[in-house]
Amino acid sequence: MQCIFCEIVKGSVQSYKIFESENFLAFLDINPRSKGHCLVIPKQHYQSLLEMPEDKIFGLFNVTKHVANKIISKLNAKAFNICINNGKDAGQVIPHLHVHIIPRYGEDKDVAIEAILPVKEELKNKLVEIANILKG
Ligand code: 5GP
Ligand code: ZN
Repeated sequence: MQCIFCEIVKGSVQSYKIFESENFLAFLDINPRSKGHCLVIPKQHYQSLLEMPEDKIFGLFNVTKHVANKIISKLNAKAFNICINNGKDAGQVIPHLHVHIIPRYGEDKDVAIEAILPVKEELKNKLVEIANILKG
C-alpha cells in the first residue's frame, strides 16, 4: 500500500521537518490552517490511534507536547489545538495516524475545533443513557 506519510518517513517525498527522533517525526502540513500547523506521526504505519500499542502512545503525546512548546516559544503562538481524525467518517484523509498541532494567535478567537460540529440539542436529555452504555 502506498502511503504518503510512510514516503515522507523514508525521505522519498519531501517535507519540512521540524522534529525527528527514532520513532517519531513532525513536519509542517502542506495546507496550513495557521502559521506553524504541523503533523506529528509515528514512523511506523498505524492507521489510527486504535491500532497503536498502548506503550507507544506516551511517546506520541510526549513529542506532541515538545513540538507544541517549540511553537509557543518560537512562533509566539498564544495557544494551540491538537486534533486526531480517526477514520474516514471523522474526516481522516491520510490513513497514517497523525496528530495535528494547530497554533492559535487570537485571530479566530471564537473558533474552537469542536465548533465544526453544531451542538445536538436532542442529545442533551440522553446523557444519562449514553453514560450508562459507556460505563458498562
Ligand atoms: P487528515 O484530514 O487526514 O487528518 O489530515 C491530513 C493532513 O495531511 C491534511 O491537513 C493535509 O494538508 C496534509 N497532507 C496531505 N498530504 C501531505 C503531504 O504530502 N505533505 C504534507 N506535509 N502534508 C500533507
Ligand atoms: Zn504510512
